[in-house]
Amino acid sequence: MRTAVLEEIEKLEVKEVPEPILEEGEILIQVKSCAICGTDVKVFHHGHKHIRFPRITGHEVSGVIVALGKNVEGYRKGERVAVSPAIPCGRCYYCRRGIEAMCDKLTAIGYHYDGGFAQFMKVPRLAVRNGCVNPIPENLSFEEASLAEPLACVINGQELSKVGLGDIVVILGAGPIGCFHSELARIKGAKKVILAEISPERLKRAKFTKSNIYVNLDKENLRQRVLEETEGRGADKVIVAVGSKKAQEDSLRIVAKCGIVNFFGGLPKDKPTINFDSNLLHYREFYVVGTHGSAPRHNQLALNVLGNRRIDAKNYITEKLPLTEIKKGLQIAEERKGLKIIIQP
Ligand SMILES: [Zn+2]
Ligand SMILES: [Zn+2]
Repeated sequence: MRTAVLEEIEKLEVKEVPEPILEEGEILIQVKSCAICGTDVKVFHHGHKHIRFPRITGHEVSGVIVALGKNVEGYRKGERVAVSPAIPCGRCYYCRRGIEAMCDKLTAIGYHYDGGFAQFMKVPRLAVRNGCVNPIPENLSFEEASLAEPLACVINGQELSKVGLGDIVVILGAGPIGCFHSELARIKGAKKVILAEISPERLKRAKFTKSNIYVNLDKENLRQRVLEETEGRGADKVIVAVGSKKAQEDSLRIVAKCGIVNFFGGLPKDKPTINFDSNLLHYREFYVVGTHGSAPRHNQLALNVLGNRRIDAKNYITEKLPLTEIKKGLQIAEERKGLKIIIQP
């Protein structure tokens, strides 16, 4: 089969390798779509603590089931499915408390196991057993369904942020994640969504989200604008959908009393420290949460939201490329020229 193998850091090779051999409890998928994630770009340049080379990466996967291992129940050949890449163990302290995204023994497709930048991908037994393989709603294309993974993380983030009716929500960053956050916040009943971004092109492209207010961070003072829009209170919820120290620091000054800030984007691992005026927190009694991934149930919710077109995945897909052009895809993603780039192996 054709695949893109990350042999080592910055050495990605499109080549033929033998098809995976299916074992008991596993499912073989013919990959139809694997979307490029910001993390794929990071992994290409810096590797990842859970990746041992050579590794086939790609974790935003949809396709068709072509073979079932022994003792797999509830699935059939020919079924269209999307795969939730993070695999909870189902048994640890956190899994038993229903917080599978924080599983102590979490493994992931595209990291511990080979992923979706390949014609075929094997889904591990634990993933099959723990609900990571989900049917795609009939009206969704494979490309659209592969966006369930990033949307699942956004759904998890807004659960943690408790975004709900009547909220004024500020989202920093208008990449695909920021746009998902904006649309989801409105679905959840936010009164006003303010989407802020430093790149004018990104901000322009984000108009489809129908956010109530767009703030160009280059031209406007964010804090001033947020205070104006909130009768001086600050935002009920602030979601930092970029990996930026400044954005995280700014978010602490625009959240309302008792509001919630979510550090959704991670910082570079060699520069993870920010300036945090702890008295802001002390006197204003707000909360700071983070979000890192998602659980299988978030993927199922994401497929529902995409399937009923409350969020239209079409708005997010700006490029489709064959596997042979994966490097070009990574390049485009890195230059932030589009929103989601789809690889069709
Ligand atoms: Zn992703
Ligand atoms: Zn667990």
